[in-house]
Amino acid sequence: MENIENTCIVCKKTEEEVPLIIMKYRGKEIRICPQHVPVLIHDPHKLTGLIEGAENFTAG
Ligand SMILES: [Zn+2]
Repeated sequence: MENIENTCIVCKKTEEEVPLIIMKYRGKEIRICPQHVPVLIHDPHKLTGLIEGAENFTAG
């Protein structure tokens, strides 16, 4: 069984391929690789559909 929880939410790379940063959000763990941290910071709306509630990350 594939464990998609252990991959970057954006590029789906595994922790075997890249270091993954683990975040907690709404009781879930989100993993993201350093390459995609800027997306989270600057373009969080791009994560809509990847993270439940990502559309709320920006302050309108
Ligand atoms: Zn990534």
